[in-house]
Amino acid sequence: MVSVVVPIYNEEELIVKFHEAVANAMEGARTQWEVVYVNDGSSDASLEILRGLQTLDSHVVVVELSRNWGHMGAISAGLQTAHGAAVILMDGDFQDPPEVLPQLIDAWRDGAEVVVAVRRSRQESRKLLAALFPLFYRLLGSLSDYPIPLNAGIFSLMSRKCVDSVNALGERNRYLPGLRAWVGYRNKVVYYDRQDRLAGDGKLSFISRIKYAMDAITSFSYKPLRLSFALFMFACTMSVLLLGSMFFVKTSVATVGLGVASTVFFVGGLLLLSIGVLGEYVGRVYDEVRSRPLSIISRVHRFPAMLAPQVGMMGVQAETNYQNGKATEAA
Ligand code: UDP
Ligand code: MG
Repeated sequence: MVSVVVPIYNEEELIVKFHEAVANAMEGARTQWEVVYVNDGSSDASLEILRGLQTLDSHVVVVELSRNWGHMGAISAGLQTAHGAAVILMDGDFQDPPEVLPQLIDAWRDGAEVVVAVRRSRQESRKLLAALFPLFYRLLGSLSDYPIPLNAGIFSLMSRKCVDSVNALGERNRYLPGLRAWVGYRNKVVYYDRQDRLAGDGKLSFISRIKYAMDAITSFSYKPLRLSFALFMFACTMSVLLLGSMFFVKTSVATVGLGVASTVFFVGGLLLLSIGVLGEYVGRVYDEVRSRPLSIISRVHRFPAMLAPQVGMMGVQAETNYQNGKATEAA
């Protein structure tokens, strides 16, 4: 069986159309399948619509999270709940086109353990984001201590082995495209053209995107930490040069005062920058030490027919581990 995991946050306009498109694509893929919709604490009618879909289509599994946990929390809950021998991750706004699903499955059948959908092109109506994406990938590419495929998001297929490896990673601040590459296994790439979201506004705030970008960089590179050393070298060189120039320049007391003040601000800025970078890492270390879960599942709605005995046990087990507490599996 192939599981498709889709995080959903306030997507009431899109769900029915999206499910139709996924169902069409999966019917053509000659395999058993399920779609695990993870309702990430939606405040609109998304949950009711998903539950309604479930009465019409037994392929639908609905995971309810205890509140809104964010994209990565929802995806992690889906990865823990999916039973498939392969699991596909995709967004529910048509930016990851459902027509590509059969290609991902075919590549897996041909022997790939991980099939990454890489963006050949990208349509983005938000101009600031469109400008920042290439910048982010360039920065990540040059800083990362480990090769990570660029221009790839969560849209991908992972074999059961790979999903189990990713689930076993305890990291809290996750950059999934990086971890998916880090666990290894035989990778294959499928190219697609990324569309704009079909309806509604993007649900991820600018701040949460910046945090995600920082997660990506801090979890795959120590280089920003070495920045303080580069700044130290720069500050030393400047101080020697300035000291030397003192003997040649005759100037008024006022100019000297301004010069000193500007130097103090400049050096202060460099120091604060280093402390800020350090803080990004220390904050993440604090998150890891606290070991809070990435999200909490409040209920899983699954058709009883889909619960093969041993597979069902694995599912319940995974949820129990995941929540570090009690799991509820409701039909
Ligand atoms: N999403 C989620 N929780 C959130 C924000 C978003 O589950 O807190 C879902 C959303 O419904 C969509 C996917 O994650 O299916 C990607 O979100 P969005 O399209 O807003 O992100 P973008 O494409 O703008 O990066
Ligand atoms: Mg989107």
